[in-house]
Amino acid sequence: MKIIQGGILTAGTSLQNHTGSWRNYRPVYLQKTCIDCKMCATICPEGCVFRISEKKFNFDPNYCKGCGMCAEECPVDDIEMVIEEK
Ligand code: SF4
Ligand code: SF4
Repeated sequence: MKIIQGGILTAGTSLQNHTGSWRNYRPVYLQKTCIDCKMCATICPEGCVFRISEKKFNFDPNYCKGCGMCAEECPVDDIEMVIEEK
């Protein structure tokens, strides 16, 4: 995505920005003690956490930048951050 100074991007171009390429750590959604509070999906700055089914969440690796906010805020420590294997 080329941005020209002063340029205006068309709608939806953030989908082309695969922020997952920035990642040094990745979350692991353990899906063991989840209480379905949805905090991970709410707090994720990339909006890339999704609900699979009751008490099961995961993330889209194309957009997860590994910030760790979901793991930090999970009230039951059901998300771990691990080093990304590249
Ligand atoms: S690590 Fe950050 S970007 Fe990735 S899913 Fe968690 S909150 Fe979202
Ligand atoms: S923050 Fe933790 S407990 Fe809440 S929905 Fe996400 S994984 Fe489940």
